[in-house]
Amino acid sequence: MTSTELRAEDIRWDLTDLCTGADEARAEWTALVERAQELASRYRGEVAALDAAGFRALLDEADDLEQDLSRLQVYSYLRLSMAAAEVEANDLATFTRDRAAEIENALVFLGLEWIALDNDKAEEILSSPEIAPYEHKMRVEREEKPYVLSELEEQALNARRPTVLAWQALHDRHVSTLEVPFDVGEGATPHTISQLLSYLYRPDRDIRQRAVTALFDGLAPRADVLAAAYDALVGDRLSIDRLRGYTNPMQPTNMNNELDDKTVEAMMAATEESYPIARKWLDAKARLLGLDKLELADQYAPIGDARAFTWPEAVEIVESSFGRFAPRLAEIFRSCIEAGHVDVLPRPGKAAGAYCTSVSKTILPYVLMNYTERLRDVSTLAHEFGHATHNVISLEQQTWRSHRTGIPMAEVPSTFAQAIADDYLLENESDPGTRAALAADRLENAFAAIYRQTVLARFEQRAYGLRSEGRSLAAERLSELWVEENGKYYGDALEMPAGYSLGWSYIPHFIHVRFYTYAYSFAQLVALLLYRRFREDADAFAPKYLELLAAGGSASPADLVAPFGLDLRSTDTWREAFAELDALREEAERLATQAAQ
Ligand SMILES: [Zn+2]
Repeated sequence: MTSTELRAEDIRWDLTDLCTGADEARAEWTALVERAQELASRYRGEVAALDAAGFRALLDEADDLEQDLSRLQVYSYLRLSMAAAEVEANDLATFTRDRAAEIENALVFLGLEWIALDNDKAEEILSSPEIAPYEHKMRVEREEKPYVLSELEEQALNARRPTVLAWQALHDRHVSTLEVPFDVGEGATPHTISQLLSYLYRPDRDIRQRAVTALFDGLAPRADVLAAAYDALVGDRLSIDRLRGYTNPMQPTNMNNELDDKTVEAMMAATEESYPIARKWLDAKARLLGLDKLELADQYAPIGDARAFTWPEAVEIVESSFGRFAPRLAEIFRSCIEAGHVDVLPRPGKAAGAYCTSVSKTILPYVLMNYTERLRDVSTLAHEFGHATHNVISLEQQTWRSHRTGIPMAEVPSTFAQAIADDYLLENESDPGTRAALAADRLENAFAAIYRQTVLARFEQRAYGLRSEGRSLAAERLSELWVEENGKYYGDALEMPAGYSLGWSYIPHFIHVRFYTYAYSFAQLVALLLYRRFREDADAFAPKYLELLAAGGSASPADLVAPFGLDLRSTDTWREAFAELDALREEAERLATQAAQ
């Protein structure tokens, strides 16, 4: 039976590649903890005395162990994703968390002793051929060395962790427990934030507008607490930055992402310069919707009317679009489906959304879907298999430790895979409403990733700036910043309602990982740049692109994209991406106008 003959309801995860059951998982965990402790007993305190060959043996052993750890973690995680309320899955998740923490504690010496080595000794090891498969990651680890404090200081900083987590939990709770009465037509019922936000994609303008009003009316009484949590966290981060010697509040995130400050600034400046591309689309969208001017509630109003896509159709689209780009990608896609590594339909108790998780060098990744036959689900399938193919191809070439990239690069292949599936769809779809919907979706997703996330990062920069000048981040001040930064983006093309000044208040990234949001802009823009190279010369591009996938996380983002002639520190490079984005805008406008006739 070929994959396209499989019916969606037949396709659930087969977890036997990971583990046969919860009892076996527990037994394996116990053995793995012992293995980690035994490894630590041989090497703890000895790293400085190892030569390159000895160090390589240690890294290989840790790499093997971490893949078994990953396999058992994924097993437990997938069990919970399939049945959030199942007692056995929850018990196993708790057991897994505890054992994983024990293993992490046992192996923490490796990173600490590596960072503690003096530079000459470390360089001697790093430049030896034995270490080549690990070199880049080991270098990156050492870059933190100047910012690490003494052991006692680090312990004291760790001791404030529960307090930091409490501020985050307070914010999360205030956001997740918010329920606002809202009436879609059958009487008012309590709605969460994400339920209200989902109405912004409805064709009915009245529902969209009322959802926006309800959301911000609901947030208003909580704004002071949400601001206080943010103020406390920003203040804490800034004082720790001073102790460690960071020179700006973005630096820790940039270092984590292996992007230098200049690259990030060049990208953000080019993005701001091209805000008019979005405004042109918003003006066109107002015309298409028959409005004088868009309001915030109209930003994601549907354009066109997409038909439904069955699961076999979605499989065919992804497989064919991957196959004509590079047969190897289609092969991996098919293998994962045939191995039972894709769970397709929504079910009660199953986790929401979609994800792809890599397991190890010998086991194919697993993909979670909640397929409901929408056009957007087809794109999501391509997206997740962009991740899956990246995982498989990088793990063929790299060690476990070296296969994973930072967050900004990790989203490049998934975004690129979406683009090639979208192209295939557009070429083969005859329904004008579906074509318009696809082109508009593609464009608006790119705007949301590139522009909105840049607005968010600029807002954060200004908030950190004010806080470091000794001013508190009260709700009114954050609202002012928010309106100013959003105003730079929307200009006159979109009306922001008064309530939108609280738009900052429920965004989890601000609370959990500062400056996380620009990673989305980065991934979209780099994917657009690669896509441009692909369109210029498809034959020369594909083999180079497979090399990029195979490189995994074994080089910095700048080095990974250098073979495509991209210099990420140059504003001109980023400007090229916006030429590509503008072409997508023109196409969306053309197809939407055709569909409306
Ligand atoms: Zn992704």
